[in-house]
Amino acid sequence: MKFASQEHESLFHERGEPYRMGSPGVRTCGARLKTGAACPNPAIKESKQGRCLSHCGPHAARAYRVRQKRRFETGSVSAEEWNRAEARRAANRLGDQWKKNPWLPGSTIDLGEHEYAFRDALGDLDTAALPPAAVDWLRWRYRRTQIDRQNAAAWHEALAQELPRRVSAAGPRPVGVRGRDPKPDVTPRTWKVDHWQDNPHSKRTMPDKPKAPKARRGKGYGRVGRPRTQPAGEDELAVLAQVYRENAGLLEPIMAGVTDEAKQLAVLRTLRDYLARPTDAEACKRWLALVHGARTQMRASGTMRAADVFGNGLN
Ligand SMILES: [Zn+2]
Repeated sequence: MKFASQEHESLFHERGEPYRMGSPGVRTCGARLKTGAACPNPAIKESKQGRCLSHCGPHAARAYRVRQKRRFETGSVSAEEWNRAEARRAANRLGDQWKKNPWLPGSTIDLGEHEYAFRDALGDLDTAALPPAAVDWLRWRYRRTQIDRQNAAAWHEALAQELPRRVSAAGPRPVGVRGRDPKPDVTPRTWKVDHWQDNPHSKRTMPDKPKAPKARRGKGYGRVGRPRTQPAGEDELAVLAQVYRENAGLLEPIMAGVTDEAKQLAVLRTLRDYLARPTDAEACKRWLALVHGARTQMRASGTMRAADVFGNGLN
């Protein structure tokens, strides 16, 4: 980014502050990650649930692409960014198609200078005889266990156990309509999403984070992430109604900005959990985040002064 002057640059940073990731006004995705943490990526406009591009689902992602294309055509998205996004989408599509036909040619990773070592590690195995989906998976495993990390046991397991399982699950190479092989390697779709341009070595410097245990679902509010938006049962509705009655003064201004019934339930559940376990840091954090969100929204719409609303509130 080129700035016309020092003043221009500082103005740019100053005005951009509210839109920066982590700013209170910026809505984050919040989907539960494998580590148990909430996804910190910004929500995309197209996602009604406020999810990020990775977690928004195909419908919103398609709408996002249309908007990105328009922005590319008008010059506000660079050719590089657009091409990278298209390559990523093509790789995702290929991964999807492989679920139906693991013999579809193509790859989503380029090991670069490590390709020789990879071939070496395979010994007698001929990658051309294997389903491309399995070879692609194996390359990713190689990168993960031999380049990003040094984990000989995991690599051995991938090679000796998981690869044969994937190969047998793929079945024999499909034969073309005229009884010939459909020439898999003539025009392989190779979407090299992952270029290690300057540094062919791993960028990972932190140890792997352990995976969180599987989310518990059921009665009560026991899981990390956004509050539930499932419909409430009769028992729960009674409890939530009581929470509402007892905290009507506090809740009314928040609820004024929430028209969706599922979201109203989520507000009540969050407050219920906080009141039930006021010393639980997580419950407290969720409730404060909600209050903060409502406050920001009201400030933005200018309908009410936040102090009027939250001056005698719980926080
Ligand atoms: Zn996300």
